[in-house]
Amino acid sequence: MQRVKYLLSLAESRRCLEKTKKELTHVKTQLNKALREKQKAEETIGDLSQQLRSFHANSPDIIFTLGYDGEFIFVNPAWERLLGYTTDEVIGRYFVDFCQEEDHPKYRRMFKQVRDEKKILRDVRGILLHKDGSPRLLNFNGAPNMDKDGKIIGMVGFLKDITEQDKLQAQLLHAQKMEAIGVLAGGVAHDFNNLLQAISGYADLLLLDLDEKSGGFSELQEIRQTARRGAELTKHLLTFSRKLESKLRPISLNHEIQRVRNLLERTIPKMIRIELKLMPEPTIINADPVQIEQVLMNLGVNARDAMPEGGLLSIKTERMVLDSQFCKTHLHLTPGEYFCITFSDTGMGMDSHILEHIYEPFFTTKKARKGTGLGLSIVYGIVKNHGGYILCESKPAKGTTFKIYFPVLDQGAVSVLPVTVLREKDASLMGTETIMLVDDDIKVRQVGEKILKKFGYKMITVSSGEAALKGFRRKYQQIDLVLLDVNMPGMGGKRCLEEMLKIKPDAKIIITTGYPVSDQYKREIAGRIAGYINKPYVSETLLRKTREVLGRR
Ligand code: ADP
Ligand code: MG
Repeated sequence: MQRVKYLLSLAESRRCLEKTKKELTHVKTQLNKALREKQKAEETIGDLSQQLRSFHANSPDIIFTLGYDGEFIFVNPAWERLLGYTTDEVIGRYFVDFCQEEDHPKYRRMFKQVRDEKKILRDVRGILLHKDGSPRLLNFNGAPNMDKDGKIIGMVGFLKDITEQDKLQAQLLHAQKMEAIGVLAGGVAHDFNNLLQAISGYADLLLLDLDEKSGGFSELQEIRQTARRGAELTKHLLTFSRKLESKLRPISLNHEIQRVRNLLERTIPKMIRIELKLMPEPTIINADPVQIEQVLMNLGVNARDAMPEGGLLSIKTERMVLDSQFCKTHLHLTPGEYFCITFSDTGMGMDSHILEHIYEPFFTTKKARKGTGLGLSIVYGIVKNHGGYILCESKPAKGTTFKIYFPVLDQGAVSVLPVTVLREKDASLMGTETIMLVDDDIKVRQVGEKILKKFGYKMITVSSGEAALKGFRRKYQQIDLVLLDVNMPGMGGKRCLEEMLKIKPDAKIIITTGYPVSDQYKREIAGRIAGYINKPYVSETLLRKTREVLGRR
């Protein structure tokens, strides 16, 4: 009986054991599964933190966290790239340690708003200081930082450096403003040219009937002189709006600077010393020497005015490569080799409010009669016209430095400007031919007609391209010369010219215009027209050109 009992209990134990074993196997599978999941989770965490590290390390923008009191807990390496401090130099210090003193209250207030009012900061512009002391303009985003229970423990922030972007934007705005003023000035100058044309033309006419002793002779001469000065002024405005033709040819920059130095030495007081530091030749640029002289003279005169107590005016030339990095931050510049003229004075300098406006026509801080405000606007127009670039740096009482860049021209010999002398009117300017004068401006027509008639020519005047064609069709055999304005409403001078040449291919036609004619158009009509006269023209020019085209008698 005892043995049976023993065997039964043995069987029972074995069953229990079997069950436990089964249960154990199950637990083991479960455990294995959990282990695998844990491993996977660990891998994911590893991946994630690797990704996070990569984000932090490679972000072009600064990412940081501040603790409850505003101390730095974390910054990514962008901080060092943008602001110069290593991570170790930042951690533990306070945000305001990197700001200008006057901004401290502002940043403290912002931080409190984020921490205590859960405010989110979006696109706030602010200045932080680089380790070298220079201010950097940054775009600032921030939000409260919370722990896993939702308790606020500080803030997270993002900073983007917009210093260069902001500079470019300002340059673009400035360039657009200058463009608009240029268009305006060009338009005014064009209308003025026609008025001055009439004024000086009528004065010429009256003078022809008077001798020097008659009453009114000197007054008329005065009118003529004044009209010429007016024409000079409109020419300056046209230079600024880049509507004035320039005759580019290879010239030596050093040579022009030396010439201007001689001119300046005669005109500025002895207390101002002029110092040249010119690089060795060649310094060849493709330029209009008259305009380059204008640039240098205008800068020289300004430097003189800025140094009433005397000082140093220095002009330096050097050759340099402007790379794409430089050109990216300076509007409308293309990378390449440039000559740089550094034009400095030790005078009174300017504050930023003045600096902003110096290139605008008629902006002056000088007393009436001393300044016209046109000098630097002319400089600006000329430099742009030559594919160059101008920069100005100045601080009150610290002097002024202009840097002007002109593209290097490597080939080509330096040529010499031919000198033309305007002679007094004489009998060789007379003629009997028939001239058709086409201009939409009545004053220009009237005065031209009178002058040419006075010198013996027969005149037909018309006010539009359409009327000119009609007349030309009927009378082309009698018309010896056409004076044709380009800018007219309606069909305009260009089409009129084409039609006339169809009627009479060897017609003699002179183009008169207040604006310069584009090079492309010039090439198109080269060889088919007899010449150009730029308005406003003096009567002698008109008469001489007319005679030249019609041939000597
Ligand atoms: P203007 O000389 O007739 O006033 P500009 O166009 O030449 O006209 O110059 C405009 C203004 O720029 C000047 O009135 C002056 O305030 C400032 N300026 C130009 N050059 C200098 C300089 N070298 N130093 C100080 N201020 C200058
Ligand atoms: Mg000036």
